[in-house]
Order: sequence, then C-alpha cells, then structure tokens
Amino acid sequence: MGLLARYAQLLPLTAATPMVSLEEGNTPLIPLPRVGRELGVELWGKFEGCNPSGSFKDRGMVLAVAKALEAGARALVCASTGNTSASAAAYAAAVGIPCFVLLPAGKVALGKLAQALMYGATVIAVKGNFDKALELARQAADTCGYAMVNSVNPYRLWGQRSGAWEICEALKDAPDWHAIPVGNAGNISAYWAGYREYRRLEHISRLPRMMGFQAEGAAPLVTNEPCPNPETVATAIRIGNPVSAELARAAVAESGGEFNSVTDEEILSAQRLLAAKGGVFAEPASCAPLAGLCKLKATNRLPSGIKVVMILTGNGLKDPDTAMTQVGRPVEIGDSLDELLAILKPGGVS
Ligand SMILES: *Cc1c(COP(=O)(O)O)cnc(C)c1O
Repeated sequence: MGLLARYAQLLPLTAATPMVSLEEGNTPLIPLPRVGRELGVELWGKFEGCNPSGSFKDRGMVLAVAKALEAGARALVCASTGNTSASAAAYAAAVGIPCFVLLPAGKVALGKLAQALMYGATVIAVKGNFDKALELARQAADTCGYAMVNSVNPYRLWGQRSGAWEICEALKDAPDWHAIPVGNAGNISAYWAGYREYRRLEHISRLPRMMGFQAEGAAPLVTNEPCPNPETVATAIRIGNPVSAELARAAVAESGGEFNSVTDEEILSAQRLLAAKGGVFAEPASCAPLAGLCKLKATNRLPSGIKVVMILTGNGLKDPDTAMTQVGRPVEIGDSLDELLAILKPGGVS
C-alpha cells in the first residue's frame, strides 16, 4: 500500500485528491549491530534507498504531485541536487504530465541524472549552484503557472512526516536520538513534526533529540550564516542557504538536539563502514550522520547504550563514481583453480 492510502487519516486528502502511488514508504528499519557495537549504542538505519526512486524524496513527492493534480496542474517544475528531480520525474511519468528539472551543471551524481532522463523529464543544467537553480525554478513556475515541487511546497514536508510514523511503529516508541543529514533542512523539520504529532496522539511516550549533520563545506546551520560557495562530495547536501533553516533550528532547539558538521573524508569513511559492517550501501550524504556519530564517540559526546536511528536518505547505487574512488578493483586471475585457491585461503586477499 502506498503512503496516501496507508496514512489517509493523517494527510490533507480530500475526496478529489487522486490516490497517486508508486508503493513508496514502508522502508526497512535495519538493525546495525556490528556498527552499533563499535559506537556503544543500539543502532538502526532507516533505509530510504528502498523507495521507488531510491530516496526519501518519494514520501513528500507523492503527496505534492497528488495535490498538484487535484489543483489542475499541467506540469511540474523543480530545482534539485539530484534526488528531487529523480522523484518528481518518476511521479510525473506515472501520472502522465511533463516534468522540467533544473540541476546545477556537473554537480549531480550519475545515477540521479540517468533516472531523470530515463523517466522522461526535460533536464536543464544551470551554470550555478543549487541555490541559483532554485531561484530560477521558482520564477519559471510562477511565470508558466506550473506546480513547483521543491520542498518550498508544503505538501512535500507533510508527506515526509510519514518516516517518523513508521519508525515509531517499528520501535513502539521514539528512539533516544534521531540522526539525519541536513541540506535544505526540510527532512529534519518534517521528522520533528511527525514525531510531535505521534506524541500528541499518544502513540509514543517521548520525543527524540534531533541530531542534524552537515558537510563541513556546506554547513550554514553549524556556522549560523549562509555559505555562498557550498562544496562537498555529498552532493545531495551541497546547499548553502537552506529553505527550511528556521524550522530546522526550532526542531533542534525544542528537542535538545544539535547540529554538527563532518568532513568529506569522514563521510566517505562512514560510507565504507556502513557498507562493510552493516551490509547497507547508502549514498554519501546519507552517511553524514554515521560520520558524525563516530566523531561524537571519539570526543566522548555519544552517551553509551542509547537507541539511535539514522536516516539513510538515499541509495548508494545512485553515485557509483564516488564509491569507485574509494575501493579497490576486482582481483584478477587467469582461469586456473590454483590461482583461485591462493586467493580463497584465509589471508589470501589483502
Ligand atoms: C534531499 C536529500 C538530503 C537532504 O534533505 P533536506 O530535506 O534537503 O535537508 C539528504 N540526503 C539525500 C540522499 C537527499 O536526497
């Protein structure tokens, strides 16, 4: 069942809202005992890479597209670091309307670009960063009367609350810490709204601390000033002026959480750790929280024994180029069993 059907009572649906669905949501909350042991916490990863377009963006996009259709929209427009465009293009294809996506030229992971093109969107590469592309998209949407499906669209954040509801249902309560990467800051705000709503409905007994993690080269919520030239290997969070900064600051302040930043090197090392000791391949941006937890552990700022949920926002397969810069190549052999056995012996491979 897709999110609109599953959470119909909690979403702003009317009799006229089309029940759009790509069977999004209901993603696995994966226990990560080997990684958790290293950190001294009980650790889970909510693997949003299992969504139909491979990231959490589908949770909000399904509602934004349904409401756009309800309002009579003829086309979708968005600016994107990659995953919003992949998601918008997928839903536009599913419902049969055109989709125009603006991307920062040369700064989008290969898999995400392939997705938007395959789903049939018109892809426009803008000379400039995400923030510039967003400004242009807003103006174009206004001028043409098309539906803008960036996270400035309130339905995006509303749909994304569903991630918090699923976590609470799986754990039968909220975790102690909710660790999440922060780019445009919509997701952390949506999760906080989702947890608060479940608390108000008395489905959970407490609220988590909201721990937001940014890349050092794009950390406006850590430095408390916009970052004019954001730069990070984690392209999904390469954002200098977050649209939902105020909501995110409130979420962190109200929950007793924190914003922290991590370097690209720490992000990539966490990506390898998650894959090699968790069995989960998430894209670089998704690994900022794990990088941050490792850093907090190293500086004695991670309480032991707490329950921590990390949001693994996107699938590692979206960015194979970055992954391949960090790992070795296949071990090559001829076609003899002896050569093979030499490798299969314990200690045979370096
Ligand atoms: C969009 C995105 C983020 C950032 O989410 P915000 O709501 O913009 O803070 C993080 N990781 C991935 C994989 C994303 O696609």
